[in-house]
Amino acid sequence: MLIVQKFGGSSVANPERVRNVAGIISRAYQQGNDVVVVLSAQGDTTDDLIEKAKQINPKPSKREMDMLLACGEQESVALMAMCIEGMGFPVVSLTGWQVGVHTSSAYGLARIYSVDSTRIREELDRRRIVLVAGFQGINRYYDVTTLGRGGSDTTAVALAVALKADLCQIYTDVDGVYTADPRHVPDATKIEEITYDEMLELASLGAQVLHNRSVEMAKRYGVRMEVLSSFSGNPGTIVKEAVNTVEKTYVSGVAQDKSIARFAVVGLKDVPGIAYKLFSLLAKNKINVDIILQSIGRGNTKDISFTVSSDNKELCKQVIEEAKRTNDLQYESLDVSTDVAKVSIVGAGMVDNPGVAATMFEALFEAGINIHMISTSEIKVSVLINIEDSERAMRAVHAKFFQ
Ligand code: ASP
Ligand code: MG
Repeated sequence: MLIVQKFGGSSVANPERVRNVAGIISRAYQQGNDVVVVLSAQGDTTDDLIEKAKQINPKPSKREMDMLLACGEQESVALMAMCIEGMGFPVVSLTGWQVGVHTSSAYGLARIYSVDSTRIREELDRRRIVLVAGFQGINRYYDVTTLGRGGSDTTAVALAVALKADLCQIYTDVDGVYTADPRHVPDATKIEEITYDEMLELASLGAQVLHNRSVEMAKRYGVRMEVLSSFSGNPGTIVKEAVNTVEKTYVSGVAQDKSIARFAVVGLKDVPGIAYKLFSLLAKNKINVDIILQSIGRGNTKDISFTVSSDNKELCKQVIEEAKRTNDLQYESLDVSTDVAKVSIVGAGMVDNPGVAATMFEALFEAGINIHMISTSEIKVSVLINIEDSERAMRAVHAKFFQ
């Protein structure tokens, strides 16, 4: 089998952990597999490098930032190679450019265009363990690029695609993907199998286990992923196209997102095209809107409420207020609140099972939690509630579906 294994920063944070990971790698190799390994920078190295840069120049160019940040992963692969050498196994470490990870030129957030697998293939043919620095590539000018924070997952999946790997294992410090964040929901359990779509939804709802682009890529090319712990040795969560529906619950997970802002545009003139006007204005400013609620106002007016991520709060407010000043948008008042949270359930099975949303609302009713807004998709139901109710809501909803 050809396996791509990726180890995150916490898994290789110190010499003892490096040795532990070297053990996992060499066992996979000894079992007769071709093993390609992608590593992240050790522990907080990337953050430390960012801090170092700031001390020199508060506004460094993105090109030089990438030059600097790529060092962290290079250090990891070199140290790991030394460790594996010491254990007596054939191994080689390679940078992103040595293995031909070609990317766009967007420094700091580059996208992978292609991976040239020739060098890795040659090394595998010589029965070497191949270690590749994650998170980095080269653009068409042969300058170093990085893929965005957490990007090593995406390097791993890109290599799995290029090498047609049988499996892409993402080793981290948790046992896999959970039915809810175990820090807030003590009864949460590990999910054995999850679909790509569910994984993407959970990630966008704040359950950050995998780099989103890695899951998108895995879905596009059908790469089988496994998320597992480098510490426990337990089986992890498999991410794939469709999961075994026998005994599968309709809901896979519950998640919360507190980084949102709720906007209410009150007293909009009730004429055709007003929603179009408002939301095209936001789209033009690249503001992503999530839950939308339109309600009847007084007289010939209506109210439109919606949520955006809190990063976009200030911009969104400016844009709407400016539109009022220039008379592009006529409304009475604008109300913005960040004391809200979104709690969602995700499950590929809910599409053919009526009553899932009702069950969620029942759980919230029983817990005495008021719902402000609702939105649904084929695999998700989200509600907007007061921020102080968020953890309690997650526990109540989780208990309803998983006990
Ligand atoms: N070292 C990079 C980061 O911390 C990339 C990664 O860990 O995947 O964001
Ligand atoms: Mg990291």
